[in-house]
Amino acid sequence: MKYFSNRHNRGSNLRPPDLYEYFVDSFWFKTIDLESQKINEPLRGKNKADIVIIGGGFTGLSSAFHLKQQFPDKHIVILEGACCGYGASGRNGGFCVTDIFLDRSKVKENEIEDAVEVSFYGLNQIKHLIAEHGVECDIQENGMLEVALNDQQINSLKDQVERLTYFGLEATFLDEAALQAEVKSPIFKAGIKIPHGATLNPAKLAREMKRVVESMGVEVRERSVVTRVTPGKMNVVDTELGEISAPILVIALNAYAHKLGFFRDRVFPVAVHQIATAPLTQDQWESIGWQNRQGLSDHRPLYSYSIPSVDGRIILGGVDFTYYNNDGLSSGNDKAVTRVIEKDLFEYFPQFEGLKIEHAWSGTTAYSLSRIPSVGVTGDFQNVYFGVGFSNGVPSAQTAGRIIADLMAGKSNIFTNHYIVNNRIPYAGPTVTRGFFGKLYKWKTKTFGW
Ligand SMILES: Cc1cc2nc3c(=O)[nH]c(=O)nc-3n(C[C@H](O)[C@H](O)[C@H](O)COP(=O)(O)OP(=O)(O)OC[C@H]3O[C@@H](n4cnc5c(N)ncnc54)[C@H](O)[C@@H]3O)c2cc1C
Repeated sequence: MKYFSNRHNRGSNLRPPDLYEYFVDSFWFKTIDLESQKINEPLRGKNKADIVIIGGGFTGLSSAFHLKQQFPDKHIVILEGACCGYGASGRNGGFCVTDIFLDRSKVKENEIEDAVEVSFYGLNQIKHLIAEHGVECDIQENGMLEVALNDQQINSLKDQVERLTYFGLEATFLDEAALQAEVKSPIFKAGIKIPHGATLNPAKLAREMKRVVESMGVEVRERSVVTRVTPGKMNVVDTELGEISAPILVIALNAYAHKLGFFRDRVFPVAVHQIATAPLTQDQWESIGWQNRQGLSDHRPLYSYSIPSVDGRIILGGVDFTYYNNDGLSSGNDKAVTRVIEKDLFEYFPQFEGLKIEHAWSGTTAYSLSRIPSVGVTGDFQNVYFGVGFSNGVPSAQTAGRIIADLMAGKSNIFTNHYIVNNRIPYAGPTVTRGFFGKLYKWKTKTFGW
């Protein structure tokens, strides 16, 4: 797999990649009062480290955590362009599912137990951070509700029950009446109830993980946009104000990786959008039930997912997954898409029509044609580790950190032998055609789809 091309970064003019938005109206950022958070000093001057991690999202932070555990004496530096959690990790829908790596076609019967352990690792690791490191992230471990809006989707729900049952996991099919007892909506036809999985405040988790890795001795440099990477026996990383060299690199950039020349023909950015309503009144909550406060998602190809926040709002996202031409990054806010999502919310719960939407924001996540991420090691000197292609990375980016640390330590175990390790991501086609195929897919699903 061609993982790196410096075509884009050649030359002495190190123009920073065009990455960040001026203002993101994220509800999660508001809960952590991002503007008054301590943002670390940028990297300046010439520096050396044992391991440099580029990207301060869940993949980068989890890599730092696991690497510091395995190699306490190594000098590990995280370079984050904005602040830890500023990318998808701090902006997402807060869903932490446990079945992300349970692909029936890839797991043989005698591998089920191990596959389930790896798949649950992300959530278990977050619970470990909470229990052992005092991380606060408003976790609600109430399981998941998946719903169908029509007969085709009911079939898809049944497939889902079958898949989870194959892996020995509980999933209960709910007919319309049983589903309405969980959550009331005139358009929900059936559902499944899954006891596993959690929802959380992702920005709190990211900022808390920054605190934890710093307490372990990891150096975190924020406001340090990497402008060029020159891989080699000694990798050289340029930032806007400084430079650092290290024998080992970790690329933890997910949807931003292409901007620095990594995985540009395999992984492409897709913008995902979120809204947060004003807090609902007690009567409004009673009108929809949802007393068990699960993560709620539907089975459309362009699905929506929603959670009740701890302060009584509905936070909903998905519906329109936007590809901006030429692998453009999310604009941070996109009014047109926000309206589409609002419409969806009011179709779920028509009695809320007119309810105030207090926040609307978006972020960029990574997709590939297979939707299977890849975590591994590459480069001419086998010293560039990476975790990319996480479209749903809240739990699995945690697992990526564990895999990267185990690979670096030369271990052979259920993590390093997992099918996502050095998974060959399919060619994504020329950049110029991606927008066309994205639009075609949307048109097809809206016209004929489910
Ligand atoms: C709106 C939205 C909703 C989502 N909902 C869910 C969900 O509910 N559940 C789920 O499992 N997943 C969800 N996802 C996906 C999930 O958030 C990501 O898969 C996951 O956070 C990826 O983590 P990461 O650390 O690999 O990448 P990121 O969190 O994107 O981290 C990459 C970091 O690299 C930094 N960076 C980029 N370029 C540079 C550079 N040149 N120099 C230095 N730093 C740089 C960025 O600032 C960023 O902080 C959602 C994503 C979005 C955008």
